[in-house]
Amino acid sequence: MMTERTLAIIKPDAVERKLIGNILSRIEESGLDIIALRTASLSKEEAEGFYNVHAHRPFFDSLTSYMSSGPVVLAVLEGDNVISKWRQLMGATDPKEAEEGTIRRDLAVDKEKNSVHGSDSPESVAFEIPYFFNGL
Ligand code: GDP
Ligand code: MG
Repeated sequence: MMTERTLAIIKPDAVERKLIGNILSRIEESGLDIIALRTASLSKEEAEGFYNVHAHRPFFDSLTSYMSSGPVVLAVLEGDNVISKWRQLMGATDPKEAEEGTIRRDLAVDKEKNSVHGSDSPESVAFEIPYFFNGL
């Protein structure tokens, strides 16, 4: 067992469809602790900086336009193996490939508008949490 933190984002498609409560409930029901939480409206530049690892991908411009198209919810989650647990709760990137009962399978629109983000490794966490939460 290892207590970790991870960054979760409720993306614009989910905020627009009033799914904040639904998604936060799933996090709480799964036993993960929410230790920081705020709304934000990302600029295109902030979204580009956050997704810098994907800068060379064909979908980068579309992704960062979408992520700056409306409000998001930013959260820091904490718990044993929370990086992997939150990724499991989210489901696969493409909702069509995500397992039943996952957030993306149940709620997402498509592979881009897939409702939630989760850090994929301790290295990503070390970049992503301070990117949005000063001092965490
Ligand atoms: P994640 O870790 O499961 O969120 O997926 P990735 O890190 O691979 O991609 C980051 C985000 O880019 C995804 O969550 C999607 O919003 C978007 N994305 C990934 N793959 C594609 C794609 O093939 N096309 C488009 N339009 N967006 C994508
Ligand atoms: Mg990723």
